[in-house]
Amino acid sequence: MLEIQKLFPSVNGDSLKREEFLSYIRDLLTKIDELKDENKLSLGEMPNYNKDFYNQKVVTSTVPQQGIGIEEIITSLVNLAKGQRIVNSCYVANAAPLPNTASIIGNLLMTLLNGNNIWDIEGSAAASAEVEIVSSLSKIVGYDEMISSGYTTWGGQGAVFNSLRIAIAKKYPNANRDGVPNNLYAFCSELSHFSLYKSMEATGIGTSHLIRVKVNEDDSMNLEDLHNKMVEVIENGGVPIYVLATMGTTDSFGIDDIKEIKNILKQLEVNYHLEDIYLHADTAMGGMFTFFNDYNFHENPLGFEEEVLEVLMDYHTKFKYVSLSDSMVFDFHKLGQTPYTTSLFLIKDKLNLKYVDLDAEETPYIGDRGFGSYHTSYTLECSRMGSSIPIYASLLTFGVEGYQKILANYLRVNIAFRKALKESFPDVVITNEVSPVTTFRFYEKENNWPNELFGRISSKEIIATNEYNENISDNIGNNRNIVYFGSTKKQKLVFASDSNEAIPLFVHKFYCISPYTTVEKVPDYINFLKVFKNKTLQYS
Ligand SMILES: *Cc1c(COP(=O)(O)O)cnc(C)c1O
Repeated sequence: MLEIQKLFPSVNGDSLKREEFLSYIRDLLTKIDELKDENKLSLGEMPNYNKDFYNQKVVTSTVPQQGIGIEEIITSLVNLAKGQRIVNSCYVANAAPLPNTASIIGNLLMTLLNGNNIWDIEGSAAASAEVEIVSSLSKIVGYDEMISSGYTTWGGQGAVFNSLRIAIAKKYPNANRDGVPNNLYAFCSELSHFSLYKSMEATGIGTSHLIRVKVNEDDSMNLEDLHNKMVEVIENGGVPIYVLATMGTTDSFGIDDIKEIKNILKQLEVNYHLEDIYLHADTAMGGMFTFFNDYNFHENPLGFEEEVLEVLMDYHTKFKYVSLSDSMVFDFHKLGQTPYTTSLFLIKDKLNLKYVDLDAEETPYIGDRGFGSYHTSYTLECSRMGSSIPIYASLLTFGVEGYQKILANYLRVNIAFRKALKESFPDVVITNEVSPVTTFRFYEKENNWPNELFGRISSKEIIATNEYNENISDNIGNNRNIVYFGSTKKQKLVFASDSNEAIPLFVHKFYCISPYTTVEKVPDYINFLKVFKNKTLQYS
């Protein structure tokens, strides 16, 4: 067994073993650093990730008969890393994080301890961290920390699924045993994330019972349409079980007015004698902006510029009401800059968890014994990673002000990018409000934006502009090692003059989420677009 024991860290704190471990870490970091180039998206050369790239791997991969040494393993691992994009200033595609140092160290601790966060007897460090972050973030968003609860889970999507499951089980406690009734309906804006769509599938309610609400020009949910669609469902014998308020849509950062949504729900509950309708705030993208809930906008202690402050104040008018939700989420692996997967599902009233909890007799080997007092038998996961630890470390390293500064910078850079974009391209239109993301679209001939938006041109013309922009997206995408812009095929739905069918609009995305994406870099992004926008040939 000695030979096998060699494959593990020490169990006695042996200093030689520690030095050996540190030397591996140093070797790995050095080799990764050697591949870094701040003016390039990828670590080392980016291979051509075509079908053959993966086919080759399928053909040649086997488990080695004998194990190999760690030095050699590090070489293999670094080979895996080659070509991978990293989130430096070249990356402006999506809300992907560059994990901060403290969160990486937290992640390392998480793996070193390797606790199972299902039970404090198995994972005391993660349990403590989880209790702490649930409480401290509850205080930030305005939930009462004495009655709130929460746990880390599989993404913003996990939070949507878990909340829908609570909504069903709370209203129909027998549904867990007998299955879901067939007249339940859920509501979200047509720009909300597909998480709810998938959750409708997975809970068995069915996607045809997902009612999509129109959006306003600012990409927030149209409240009149919400009201009307809910009334229609109720009057036809349906039960509105769940409403999703998206606060920060994934592609364009539209923010639903949760205060007014809550008013509508209350009014319907009274008028139609309904029980509480569950309200989940999908704050996967926008949740970090609750860190401004206690910012003194009047004195502006961090000295934000007028333009930035204005946006923050506008956000504040919506995010200060997020505590009206029954649950929400912090996706730290988006704007919070931590490793995947670090999502915290927050629940306003922990009593709601009892509807999805397992009976003690169903969990024979954990929890509910004479020892241990933290047992998360209400999660859908059984074993659970301790991702509360990197979140905890990240909150400590940034503090409230650190997060305020990085979030404000996302806006500052976007404001500068928008100005420069408009100055440099007469044929561009910006299709969303100022936010961490700028969505934009080019026109081959004249600027047709108002006509597209208000249904004054034909579907053929809209689709032609979509195709024109998809081509541009291919051109700049082929050169993404210089700057990697994002895109989406459905930023908005519009109606053409000659068709009743909604047409999705293709737009490019500039997502500023890295601390290395600064105002000084904006001219580089603009130059890149100038050079490659219409250049079909691949850069070499
Ligand atoms: C990203 C996102 C999700 C999904 O979150 P994951 O962490 O990727 O699972 C859900 N809703 C919104 C609004 C999002 O932006």
